Order: sequence, then structure tokens, then C-alpha cells
Amino acid sequence: MHESMKLQHPQADLTLFLEALRFSAQKHCDQRRKDSAASPYINHPIEVAWLLWTIGGVQDESAILAAILHDTIEDTDAKPEEIRACFGDEVLKLVLEMSDDKSLPKQERKREQIAHSPRLSLRAKQIRLADKICNVHDIAFSPPDGWPLARRIDYLEWAREVIDGLRGANAMLEERFDETLALARQKLTSESEGNP
Ligand code: ZN
Repeated sequence: MHESMKLQHPQADLTLFLEALRFSAQKHCDQRRKDSAASPYINHPIEVAWLLWTIGGVQDESAILAAILHDTIEDTDAKPEEIRACFGDEVLKLVLEMSDDKSLPKQERKREQIAHSPRLSLRAKQIRLADKICNVHDIAFSPPDGWPLARRIDYLEWAREVIDGLRGANAMLEERFDETLALARQKLTSESEGNP
């Protein structure tokens, strides 16, 4: 059976998928999203994997595992060797593609993400799309505490630049991104006019 068909099969082996959920949940256990409700961080990678599978039609085991794990190297103490040992080289490579170089200052990391976007592998582009759909939605509808409007508007424009660099990777996810961005812009415009 083709690798990408594996999870569609009724008797698919979910061992690695459950292992990835467990690994990511443990690594992110002390983290919360920055919204005022302080949502559990793990909601985010689960949403990214859901978007890939359901909206993007990316029914590919390595991509789904990498989506679940995509923030563990950047944002937790997870080590590349741990990911390689549990999930193999292919998944590790995707997670590394999704990880910013934290030794760089924030503004430079943001520029790097725009510059790297066209050079990502196809699966990393699809994960990036799902990640940005989630983040753009959250910045508009459950924003980080204390972010002024201008910073949220900047975020939306930066995310658009990152996505413009990888267009052609997945039409469904790109359409979803464009819809989410339009709604997010509307929301911020309405806030700038004094509506909550
Ligand atoms: Zn993310």
C-alpha cells in the first residue's frame, strides 16, 4: 500500500500518530497560547494537523506527524535526536524545516521565514500554510494579551508575505488562508473603528 494511503485504511496503524500526540502534549504541557483564555498549547498543533488532513487533503503520515510536532523543537526542550529516535529522519527533517533559528533576533527570524518560504519542501509548505491559517485566525479573534492593533495588523501582513512565497503548494489550504485573512482584516478594521 502506498505510504500516503496508510491512515485512510480502517485498520491503519495509529501507533506513531498517538506517540506524536503524546510526545507533543508532554513537551508543551506547561505552555499556554498567549490569548486571554490561555488555551492549552497542544490545541494549536492538533488544529494544524486537522487542517492539513481535512481541508488540505494531506493524508500523509509524515506530514501529519510533523504537524503535531512542528513547534516542539522551536518552543520546548525537545531535541532533534529524540524526534529522530521516535519518528525517524523524514519527520525530523520536516520539523526542522518548520523551526526558526532561535539564535537570531526576532525581526531577522521573521525576514528569514519570508526568504525561506519558496525553498521549503512541498510538505513543509503545506504545514506552514495550516500553521499560518491558525495563527492569523487567533491574532484576529483571540489575540495575545497586550498586543496593540498595529502589531496585530503587522502580523497579518507578514503572514501574507510568508504565504505568498509558497503559493502553488495546496489550493485548498491557500483558499482557506485567503478567506481567514480576509475575515481577520475585517475584524481588525472593525476594531480600529472602535467596535470590540
Ligand atoms: Zn505553530
